[in-house]
Amino acid sequence: MPGKLNKIKQMPSLYQGVVNILKEAIIAGRYLPGEALPSEMELAAQLGVSRPVVREALRALQSSGFVVIRRGIKGGAFVGDAARLGLGDNLADLIRLRRVTVAHLYQVRSHLEPEVCRLAALNASEEQLEKISQMLDEYRAADSDDQRVTLNARFHRLIARACGNPLYGLIMDSIMDFTEGFVRTIKPQGRLIHNDEEHVQILAALMARDPEAAERLMRGHAESIDREMQSLEETYLRIKDENAGA
Ligand SMILES: [Zn+2]
Repeated sequence: MPGKLNKIKQMPSLYQGVVNILKEAIIAGRYLPGEALPSEMELAAQLGVSRPVVREALRALQSSGFVVIRRGIKGGAFVGDAARLGLGDNLADLIRLRRVTVAHLYQVRSHLEPEVCRLAALNASEEQLEKISQMLDEYRAADSDDQRVTLNARFHRLIARACGNPLYGLIMDSIMDFTEGFVRTIKPQGRLIHNDEEHVQILAALMARDPEAAERLMRGHAESIDREMQSLEETYLRIKDENAGA
């Protein structure tokens, strides 16, 4: 008697396939935390599935925290906190409690980010470089310091997402979460800790696929940010203490 045939393993459902694709895109940094995903209709068209399937997938992603769904005119699906490591808040607490200093943090960043940038020169896709370039155009057109702070941080987030190692992307996101909070706390000009011209040079090195230049330029950039932030650390801690005591 011939042996029985194996049972077919359960096929992944269509919506599960959509969940997986969107999760991968989020982890790869195609959409950054807080950013909007394409509309339901667009996703359905891009993925070749119906809108109810997309809706079901978004609901599943919402319950795991990957997506936040907001109602209203400016509503839609946004990338949620599960796509973060969430170290940013802890860092802010540790620094406020003087367990970690800005110098400690920047010792880490100044090792990490030049390497991240070197890898990005080798591994970034044309699409990722295009996104960074568009971000710099947006920066030039920005008309508030608040916007400039967000976009400056996004430059660093996008490079880390483009380096080919998703963990670097997540770690840099946490560092940038803290750094953005720092800058907003002391409310200096967005450009105070940032030399815009250096961003342009770094992007040029990435586009030239020159890993040595990318690494060197990012090292210089990170060191100058470090100096500015250390000189502002006392101010930052004083404001944080005042707020905590209030
Ligand atoms: Zn920068």
